[in-house]
Amino acid sequence: MGYPVGLQCIRCGAEYEIGPLYKGCPACLDQGLPTNLKVVIDGNAVKATFNPKALQDRPDSMWRYAEFLPVPLESAVSLGEGLTPLLHVPRLGKRLGLSRLYVKNETVNPSWSFKDRLASSAVSFAPSLGARVITGSSSGNAGAATAAYSARAGMPCVMFTTQQFPLAMKVQMGVYGTKLIAVPTIYDRWKLVEAGVDLFGWFPITVFVYPLVGSNTYGIEGYKTIGYEMVDQLGYVPDKVVMPVGAGDAFFGAWKGFQEYRDFGYTDRVPTMLAGEVFGPLENALAKDLDHVEETRRAPTVAISVGLNTSTYQALSVLRDSGGIARSASDESMISMQQLLASDEGIYAEASSVLSLAVIPHMIEAGAIDPDETVVAFLTSTGLKDPELTAEYMQQIPLIEPEVEDLTRALREIYQFDVAESVLAEA
Ligand SMILES: [Zn+2]
Repeated sequence: MGYPVGLQCIRCGAEYEIGPLYKGCPACLDQGLPTNLKVVIDGNAVKATFNPKALQDRPDSMWRYAEFLPVPLESAVSLGEGLTPLLHVPRLGKRLGLSRLYVKNETVNPSWSFKDRLASSAVSFAPSLGARVITGSSSGNAGAATAAYSARAGMPCVMFTTQQFPLAMKVQMGVYGTKLIAVPTIYDRWKLVEAGVDLFGWFPITVFVYPLVGSNTYGIEGYKTIGYEMVDQLGYVPDKVVMPVGAGDAFFGAWKGFQEYRDFGYTDRVPTMLAGEVFGPLENALAKDLDHVEETRRAPTVAISVGLNTSTYQALSVLRDSGGIARSASDESMISMQQLLASDEGIYAEASSVLSLAVIPHMIEAGAIDPDETVVAFLTSTGLKDPELTAEYMQQIPLIEPEVEDLTRALREIYQFDVAESVLAEA
């Protein structure tokens, strides 16, 4: 059994027993430096049964890595999450000047985002602590994933939101039978999650401590599988991994996965982790050599899933430990990248998702990516979570009479496409 043997603070190193420490390290919290804990697992126990060369008889989901996760396979609450495609994207790579650009396509998860890894791992573990109700706050992917996995587990879920978020997200969270409650601000959401945890013993999946520490430690364990999968699907360790980063839960989880694979002897190296962000809090913290993350200015953004003007110690620690950097991209470049990824490669991802691709030119400029390196960009969620946004930037569909002349004219004038190009060449 490789299951959790303890908790450890990622800042001060203090060790704790497995338990309901949802607010991070108590010692660091007392000093006003809220910091997440990480789960400690027993490497010898993992090595006793896990062999990455013998995965063919294991589930087609992230639970093929059960030895690394908080519960054994038979206790997993699963909808088939993870083991998402790792795709070479040559056309887009050529545009960006990279010959080995890959994307990890998380849009095909059961609730259509990477948060399914967090929710599956956390909801699976919740009964181990005696929890009977799942809670969280979200206006998007985390809420949908938490709602879906609570339903799958047959556990009640109370989810706090605000009122301003895309219709598709509202519908998705509601349809899974979650008790959705709206409050005026995001801080109000966190206050009520904390009340649920402290007063009623609810099990929180998402961020609720401010300054932010990150999401549920046992859920973040699920994100480790991103790292294992990238290595096993490529057949080697990528040079650079670029992810959209808000609180940095998946960023930290994937990094922990890469480290465990190396530390347990399955690989001999780790990648450099690069962060795409919207308002630059991590870039600011690195530039000023801070040991915490300051708030930066904020404005409305299309990247609603990572539109934070702050981040976490866990995210900062990944950049420091892996030698990575953080860069920002504009709303315009995300919208344009969303359309390029779809039209070049056939993948429609959320605007926040393509932040991992939109920052690549800035990473190259900063010397953090070389053109011949293997780069994996992480795509978090499907564009169908917020199609109104994409629709704003698309042209209207031309309505024509059903005549060939009208068709050829419309193709030429609207789409700059000459029908002569489609005539078959002589054999
Ligand atoms: Zn600590």
